[in-house]
Amino acid sequence: MPVSLFDTYTRQVREFEPLSKGEVGLYACGPTVYDYAHIGNLRTYLFEDFLRRTLEYNGYKVNHVINITDVGHLTSDADTGEDKMEKGSRRTGMTAWEMADFYTAAFQDDLQTLNILAPHTWCRATDHIPEQIAFIEDLVQRGFTYTTSDGIYFDSRRSNNYGRLARLDVNGLRAGARVDPGERRFVTDFALWKFSPPDEQRQMEWDSPWGIGFPGWHIECSVISSKYLGDFFDIHCGGEDHIPIHHTNEIAQTEASKGTTLANFWMHGYFLQLDNMKMAKSAGQMVRLQSLLDANYDPLVYRYLCLTAHYRTQLSFGWDSLEACGVALGRLQKSCYEWGEPSEPDADFVTRFEDHINNDLNMPRALALTHDLRRADIPDANKKATLLHFDRVFGLRLDEWRPDRLVVPEEVERWLQQRESARSEKDWQQADLLRDKILAAGYQVEDRPEGPRVVSSE
Ligand code: AMP
Ligand code: ZN
Repeated sequence: MPVSLFDTYTRQVREFEPLSKGEVGLYACGPTVYDYAHIGNLRTYLFEDFLRRTLEYNGYKVNHVINITDVGHLTSDADTGEDKMEKGSRRTGMTAWEMADFYTAAFQDDLQTLNILAPHTWCRATDHIPEQIAFIEDLVQRGFTYTTSDGIYFDSRRSNNYGRLARLDVNGLRAGARVDPGERRFVTDFALWKFSPPDEQRQMEWDSPWGIGFPGWHIECSVISSKYLGDFFDIHCGGEDHIPIHHTNEIAQTEASKGTTLANFWMHGYFLQLDNMKMAKSAGQMVRLQSLLDANYDPLVYRYLCLTAHYRTQLSFGWDSLEACGVALGRLQKSCYEWGEPSEPDADFVTRFEDHINNDLNMPRALALTHDLRRADIPDANKKATLLHFDRVFGLRLDEWRPDRLVVPEEVERWLQQRESARSEKDWQQADLLRDKILAAGYQVEDRPEGPRVVSSE
């Protein structure tokens, strides 16, 4: 059965055909690592995980790449303001480099906690500076740029197709006085390279043919995605906020340099809202995954919550709905456990499941099938096999659940080992931090003569 996906570029649900038989290149814009991810960000990575699992379910070999934005993302997406990394460094007291490592690790931890499959390649923007400079040099040679006192800018008027992805009214935007373009010729122009301010020593800066500075935010994704997946690859994703600026600009610069729109499908996850506002790191309007763990939720309850809404609709976060999802997931875990040994999945349920997931990832409908399954008049062993079959895409770790939580999750085991190494290095502070983390996940560390172990704290 073919997979159909909504492509923002053509505004159509299209049948997915891989560019290379059986294989899919999948690029997801990664986090800007100046703070913890919030559960809104994580909703986008969950959507991408459901996408990847659906493709893998259908037999595709997916090559998944995520970048880490560790330089150049300014406080305004429109290239004004300060570099979020330099600002974050002042806030945290860490150097920009230490902070990038710290929040990258925290992000990777969050993905693991939510059972999101790790990409095959992680790449940091700062590890690809020469490639970014080469790309900009090419744009300069092709006449797509101009220089101002603070950087090299992309001249969006040179691009015939500028704003196609977002259906931007480019002329209206350029004529409007709402946004001051500053030294840019037009509000739709964007920075490719910013010069380091003359009166300030930046922590992250590099030499370039145009002077010392740092890359603009969009260039890294054009460069990194094509380096690892080719100049035209299958699917590029991100959150809906990337449609009008970040992805629009990636396409503009790649079209100028390579003559392609970079990806065959552009897919966007819609926002998680909090109190009718978008959840945003910069607005201080955020809930972290850790807050859910602190409130004693199994992190997979958040995964379940994200399955209940289609990725192309906004989802309002509320503790009440999280609570209801906790109850629903608990019921499913218990049934799954009680159904005993699995036999064969039920063919009719599997077909219905595939209809839903392959229809632009209709996870809410696929999830609703689990309720029908519980009530269906088929043997428990088939029910169990069917549910575990669904769980290849849901990723709720249903086969691991035990009533008394005797099974300790992998990450808790990992933290326990990390705590042991910290203790052997006499890093008591780190050891205590890890003990607290284990506790927050619902487990207690017992130091026994034969060595430490964790038990459920309930
Ligand atoms: P950032 O770390 O801000 O660069 O964002 C990382 C990813 O999270 C991007 O794909 C964003 O589009 C996405 N994102 C940001 N805020 C939200 C939100 N409230 N809900 C869902 N996704 C979001
Ligand atoms: Zn990106």
